Amino acid sequence: VETVIGAGPCGCLAAKEIAKAGKRVEIWEEHNEIGKPVQCAGLVSGKGLEKLNVDFRGSVLNEVRGARLYSPSGIHFEVARKKAQAYVIDRTRLDKICAEEAQSEGAEIVLGKRWEPRNRVDVAADGSLSRVVSSLGLTRRYIHTYQVEAKLDRDPDFVELHFSNSFAPGFFAWVIPLGDGRCRVGTGTTMSANPKECLQRFMKASGKNELSALIPVYKPGQKTVYGSTLLVGDAAAQVKATTGGGITVGGFCARIAGKIVGEGIPREKYESLWRAEFGRVLDLHLQIRTFADRLSDDEMDDLFRMAIDNGIPETIENCGDMDDPRPLINSVLRRPLVMLKLARYVKYL
Ligand SMILES: Cc1cc2nc3c(=O)[nH]c(=O)nc-3n(C[C@H](O)[C@H](O)[C@H](O)COP(=O)(O)OP(=O)(O)OC[C@H]3O[C@@H](n4cnc5c(N)ncnc54)[C@H](O)[C@@H]3O)c2cc1C
Repeated sequence: VETVIGAGPCGCLAAKEIAKAGKRVEIWEEHNEIGKPVQCAGLVSGKGLEKLNVDFRGSVLNEVRGARLYSPSGIHFEVARKKAQAYVIDRTRLDKICAEEAQSEGAEIVLGKRWEPRNRVDVAADGSLSRVVSSLGLTRRYIHTYQVEAKLDRDPDFVELHFSNSFAPGFFAWVIPLGDGRCRVGTGTTMSANPKECLQRFMKASGKNELSALIPVYKPGQKTVYGSTLLVGDAAAQVKATTGGGITVGGFCARIAGKIVGEGIPREKYESLWRAEFGRVLDLHLQIRTFADRLSDDEMDDLFRMAIDNGIPETIENCGDMDDPRPLINSVLRRPLVMLKLARYVKYL
């Protein structure tokens, strides 16, 4: 029997592929219910969700067609498209849908069963605080987050991203509308700051479904194959360092891992197969994050002004992609005037 650890979306997607290929597979989940506790803001691109090959529709709470971005001093711009670009999902529901689809292919889910280092494991999908990863002696860097669901009067079509070293050092604060007069309001910070205090500095938001969790920071070049064990999802830090989004990249990598295990393909192939799809993109997300982390609040304000003066919001509307920064970067690289204005920030690259 192949063993997958963790019945989050990545574990279930991997197990579904293994079962589909005709192999017996068990998913061990330490909790007694799939999808709880929730540790997610649930904003996922439509294109990314399509790639997971799951019937995600039943998990959609709201559709958003744009974003409003705010600098530390409140300079802001909007990027919007006519049609929905991203979905706000009910994570518990999505996890349960992934689990049901794995089960209908024949995967067996064992609830309340915790993996310990003495147990074998084929696919480790045990999340950001993976015990499999720590048993391999690997270290991770994390973004610390805090989020609540609060009643807030916000445009249901737009998410808000707020940048500031005062309330979101090393990340950003978000407002994600659920479409029913409530929003998920949260902030991410480096480990030296307290995200709950940071959220209070950002907004005096109180509400329910409070969560505090860690987002692993992608580490280029860190291996994801150890003997016959494949790491997927947050356990492999397959997460976009700009946004912390990990459902679509991790989910797709989990499908690759599942096919490899299911079809008996040599396991070391996993490394090159998922990197061919996402390695460059994840590297770029990390470079953008590293660049943004080095900016002071004044410099971030300056970049916002420069972006607005040079039509960058329109460029984002034309070619921006929340999963893949390459089309936007290529478009900016082709504009010598903008590049000239960016020259003073080259030291941060
Ligand atoms: C505040 C916050 C907001 C986020 N917002 C977004 C977002 O908007 N969009 C997005 O795409 N991503 C977002 N993410 C990231 C996203 O939640 C993760 O990338 C995603 O959950 C990874 O899925 P996974 O299956 O790898 O891990 P998980 O979903 O964490 O699942 C791991 C599973 O393994 C189980 N487990 C752990 N240890 C063991 C063990 N020893 N034995 C058995 N079972 C075990 C856990 O109980 C859990 O069910 C956010 C994360 C945080 C913290």
